[in-house]
Amino acid sequence: MLVSEPKDNAGYIKRDLTDMLKFRDKKSLTDLDLRNKRVLVRVDFNVPMNEHGNITDARRIRYTLPTIHYLLNENCRVILISHLGRPKGKVVDSLKMDTIYKRLKEYCPLSNIYLADECIGSSVEKMVKKLKAREILLLENPRFYPEERENDVDFAKGLARLADVYVTEAFATAHRRHASTYGVCDHIEEKGYGFLVEKEMKFISNCIAKPKRPLTVILGGKKVEDKLDVIKYLIGVADNILIGGGMAYTFLLAKGYSIGKSVRDLSKLEDVRQYMKNAEASCTRIYLPRDVVVCDELEYPSKIEQVPITEINENHVGVDLGDETIEVYKDILSKSQQVIWQGPLGVFERQEFEKGTKEIATHLIENKIYTIIGGGDSAAAFEKFGFQDDVSFISTGGGASLEVMKGTLLPGIECLSDK
Ligand code: ADP
Ligand code: MG
Repeated sequence: MLVSEPKDNAGYIKRDLTDMLKFRDKKSLTDLDLRNKRVLVRVDFNVPMNEHGNITDARRIRYTLPTIHYLLNENCRVILISHLGRPKGKVVDSLKMDTIYKRLKEYCPLSNIYLADECIGSSVEKMVKKLKAREILLLENPRFYPEERENDVDFAKGLARLADVYVTEAFATAHRRHASTYGVCDHIEEKGYGFLVEKEMKFISNCIAKPKRPLTVILGGKKVEDKLDVIKYLIGVADNILIGGGMAYTFLLAKGYSIGKSVRDLSKLEDVRQYMKNAEASCTRIYLPRDVVVCDELEYPSKIEQVPITEINENHVGVDLGDETIEVYKDILSKSQQVIWQGPLGVFERQEFEKGTKEIATHLIENKIYTIIGGGDSAAAFEKFGFQDDVSFISTGGGASLEVMKGTLLPGIECLSDK
């Protein structure tokens, strides 16, 4: 248990980050012998789409372009593979790669790009054979095959047959041991990470390994379990943890407050109590909302009000931070040198409930506070407010960035060649 680890006089725990930092020993793009090679690049083009099938945020595609262009300049034949959505091992028409393919062609107008309708097998192998230097082939969605998630050896071998070199740019999927993110590496000699993965790893690992203090972590959203899992690693490392969003109500319940119909994770109450106790014995202060915005019904609210946390009743659904809490959090953030933010502070998709998330985001930007955003919905909030270019760094991987923050070496990086 981390809390029993030795603390220094200021209450900081010296964490063993050897595993996380092993990524530095792995080959990056510039360490690889790429000239004239066939290169299989695992990207994560699992971009959000609206109900009409239009891409709403293409950052995950755009951010891989430097790597793709680097490979083209090295005279490579580039084979891209990415999952899209959760087709659960069978072909789902709406999750085919056509839309991604079209967007990719817009971004690379000077390159010949082809789309395969499979990932492995003789027809794909033929396409690869025909591919010329500086041409690109995008494979079909590997999650159409159950073998992808099962990390099936034959499927991985089928992918490996397509290329001489493997490059991962799929930071957001690098915490998964799937055939195209992990297993394939057993069958390719030369493998390394691309510029996007390098940037993600550097930003996040620096924040954890060499934080500029005070380091404040904001945790919100509604995936309580994933984020709670990371809190135990932040106790003794972060100076402040500000809790908001749906996360807050499990904490408030654990402290004995009534939370009405707000979201909660009852299975985590004991853990939450333990974390709060551990934090008290360390340098880390955990802050909970003092007041919240509540409504009677999330879908069609007829009554919205602000209440102190002592006055949440059984009909209330907590949906945003209250004004007093926003001010307290702003004050803490003003004094922070570095901020990591995972999870929106309210149901920001609805204008009535966006205030907490928007005001805190505005505050960080106006005060030029160094901030790393993790989590797909947190990134979407910054996009919605038009702040995406003003914040220090927006990670493309929510789950993966949480794993890095725990100090682990992601499997999708661990399997790469050593320098
Ligand atoms: P991220 O993707 O940034 O990691 P999550 O996936 O954990 O964040 O959660 C994002 C979702 O949490 C958003 O859709 C937002 O509407 C929701 N959310 C935020 N606050 C609340 C709340 N009080 N009650 C219910 N849902 C909330
Ligand atoms: Mg999310």
